[in-house]
Amino acid sequence: MSLIKRLSPRLANQIAAGEVVERPASVVKELLENSLDAGADRIEIEIEGAGSRLIRVRDNGSGMTADDLPLALARHATSKIAELDDLEAVATLGFRGEALASIGSVSRLTLTSNSADEGAGVCAFTEGRDMQVTVKPAAHPRGTTVEVRDLFFNTPARRKFLRTDKTEFAHVDEVVKRVALSRFDVAFQLRHNGRTIHSLRPASAGMEQARRVAGVCGPAFMEQTVAIQREVPGLSVRGWVGLPTFSRSQADLQYFYVNGRIIRDRLVAHAVRQAYRDVLYHGRHPAFVLYLDMDPAQVDVNVHPTKHEVRFRQGRDVHNFLFSTLHKALSDVRPGTASMPAS
Ligand code: ADP
Ligand code: MG
Repeated sequence: MSLIKRLSPRLANQIAAGEVVERPASVVKELLENSLDAGADRIEIEIEGAGSRLIRVRDNGSGMTADDLPLALARHATSKIAELDDLEAVATLGFRGEALASIGSVSRLTLTSNSADEGAGVCAFTEGRDMQVTVKPAAHPRGTTVEVRDLFFNTPARRKFLRTDKTEFAHVDEVVKRVALSRFDVAFQLRHNGRTIHSLRPASAGMEQARRVAGVCGPAFMEQTVAIQREVPGLSVRGWVGLPTFSRSQADLQYFYVNGRIIRDRLVAHAVRQAYRDVLYHGRHPAFVLYLDMDPAQVDVNVHPTKHEVRFRQGRDVHNFLFSTLHKALSDVRPGTASMPAS
């Protein structure tokens, strides 16, 4: 008799969920990434009870067929990569095929979708218990709606870790802001307990983009910021860096994107800190919204399940590029010259 037993799929998913689904905000992040990967340009997020009662994300993306739905909910099933080589240059936000399976194992999840402009759609429901999926017809325009109810209803230990609604909502709001700053071409709406929190129209021109940044980071940021844009072979950066006069007591206004994905990276943090070193008081933090674009093969995003961390192949080059760009921008600044970057 063997002492080693195979975990049931449900338990395996719940263990994986521990890494990916920490709180309602993590669910919102994964669902928004899926909507963006599906090519949506309008995404509506509706939550109740700071997300622990309900999270509903509705998009107008590519949608899914009846055959897709059970697979979408299965672990290690994805439409985004097929072989190891694809990992070398992931162009989508997701690729691990884990999020929906994980979320479904710790909530009551309904997927409703339609992949065509006409006809009715399909709907699948799964409830943490057994991961059985039944697909039924359901009305839905082209796109997908994911509804997540009663998060952690079957994992009381996790549920206990949830903080107050105020705190959990703040996390959800932060996720929506991060995503909204990553895709100016997409309309976002966030509603909480029936109240509209954000309603952001697509922003194409520089002026509209600046308005979205002001909406997300506050008008004061835009007034005390300098727009930057620089390109060298293989690397380009653009965005807004806060003037030293807009320093913060916390590192709470720092958005850094690599190829459209928000990341936290020590090397990037170090480059920014160095660039601000001579102009910021000790203990103050800079504010910035920066977009770095590079060859996807030069950056590894498969470092952590939440995909917040990356590994640069040429870390030194990235560091030097960022440092020199920001350093120059900050030393060039004369008060009142803040302007918009071209997009
Ligand atoms: P991943 O995003 O890593 O592929 P997920 O578990 O998040 O894994 O999603 C599994 C699959 O379900 C995706 O690869 C995609 O094909 C499909 N899917 C999920 N959400 C959507 C959506 N909003 N619109 C269309 N397809 C979706
Ligand atoms: Mg995903």
